[in-house]
Amino acid sequence: MDDHDRFMCRQRAQRRAQQKGQKLDSLWGFENWDCDGREGHHISRKKYGDALIAIPVSMHRELTRRQLEEHATEGPDDSNPLERLGRFLLGLTDIVECLADFLRRVGNALIAAARRGQRKLCESDYSLTQLLAFMGALHKCLGATLATLAHEIGE
Ligand SMILES: [Zn+2]
Repeated sequence: MDDHDRFMCRQRAQRRAQQKGQKLDSLWGFENWDCDGREGHHISRKKYGDALIAIPVSMHRELTRRQLEEHATEGPDDSNPLERLGRFLLGLTDIVECLADFLRRVGNALIAAARRGQRKLCESDYSLTQLLAFMGALHKCLGATLATLAHEIGE
């Protein structure tokens, strides 16, 4: 899937969400994160690896959609370490894109608040502390997983 295909795929997903009556700024559903529950997500998909992270339900929905619609179709051997590492890296890429989109959103919100004359954080529509906790959990999980995968493909 190239960049154009990925763009079109996401446009179709956005349209499907709108047709269901969901009013989303993005497919990540950031506006729901504060009240979303958390779900366990297998970064590589369960059959390709055990790395699991707790994430907001809305984020999980989009990561799952990407795994199913945007990642390479399934290979013949889900125990192949190269396939498993490849799947993990695609899952990681999606998470990093989510974080980049989130940070851009926060940055723009802070600048907009500054333009309104604010000098301190007040109520925003999502919590920076949640993001920081999430990034900490992600960092811990990814470090352990990358070490394991590096060992597997080196054997
Ligand atoms: Zn998942």
